[in-house]
Amino acid sequence: MSEFDIIADFFSKQDMRKDDVVLGIGDDAALVSTTQLNQIAIAIDTLISGVHFPEETSAYDIGWKTLAVNLSDMAAMGAEPLWFTLALSLPEQNKSWLSDFAAGLFELAEQYNVPLIGGDTTRGSMSITVQIAGKYTSEPHMQRRNAQIGDKIYITGTLGDAALGLQSLQQSVPVSLEEKQQLLLKLNRPQPRVQEALALRTFVNAAIDISDGLYADVSHITDASNVGAIIYVDKLPVSRTYRQTLQGENHFDLALTGGDDYELCLTISPENEAKFLAQAESVGCQVTAVGEIVEGRDLTLYTHGDVPYSVKLSAYDHFN
Ligand code: ADP
Ligand code: MG
Repeated sequence: MSEFDIIADFFSKQDMRKDDVVLGIGDDAALVSTTQLNQIAIAIDTLISGVHFPEETSAYDIGWKTLAVNLSDMAAMGAEPLWFTLALSLPEQNKSWLSDFAAGLFELAEQYNVPLIGGDTTRGSMSITVQIAGKYTSEPHMQRRNAQIGDKIYITGTLGDAALGLQSLQQSVPVSLEEKQQLLLKLNRPQPRVQEALALRTFVNAAIDISDGLYADVSHITDASNVGAIIYVDKLPVSRTYRQTLQGENHFDLALTGGDDYELCLTISPENEAKFLAQAESVGCQVTAVGEIVEGRDLTLYTHGDVPYSVKLSAYDHFN
């Protein structure tokens, strides 16, 4: 199988047709039409085996997750995903791996109507990069630099299940087989909050998707906005499995510092809060208030109202 066979067999056969794709896979570059667009959001993310997913992760899940993390970046900007490209480096050609990878990738691509319009295929250690573009019309909403003092901090969904799923692969965690499978679904098949973000964006000041853990990701908002934040850790939304499995003094640490949740952290000004909550309910998106934006530059954690909380775990850093 040559590089070109791989492209033809696994990546060029999408049924999806979109009017704004003038020229897709097959030439030196793809052509897209952007007559209606003022601002285009562009994001890129690479997944490396053993770093972003455990070595034993299925090809299907890798395909899914590669696109999911990029869609999540579009969600975090309140951008509408349009197209993506794929750079694939593989140690060997393996038809069944490629077929499963493509199936996971295109399952999600179809769900969000984002076609693959180009890419690059090389031999090397396994690395998978997706670049995605989306339509951004929300200025200045959903930007990290746009948090305002007095904003409430909200989280979509629940936190910590993906990290707990990863733990369940590495050590024994007291969960049933069914619960373990649920946790691994959270880890391997994150559902990016794209529709939710598009529905909520006009009520949101700053936003970030939670990929490295809330603790690290909130500080990206406070840094960019020159503000401080308070998080009430006992308000963090966690699943039933999480609550039943993790107990004891520092059991919120994983929800605070575990990565891979791909939920959104949003800051909402008080005058928009009622409208935000009504809209979240109408699109069926669970949102939970966990803190507020304050003056200063510190990120302060409390539990039980005003009891200081300190984290014992730390977020993942590629170079540390
Ligand atoms: P070039 O030599 O001009 O870089 P390539 O031979 O690398 O072109 O790729 C041929 C065509 O196939 C291009 O349109 C490229 O975008 C596309 N392509 C290559 N690899 C992939 C892939 N993994 N997924 C989708 N499209 C791909
Ligand atoms: Mg090339």
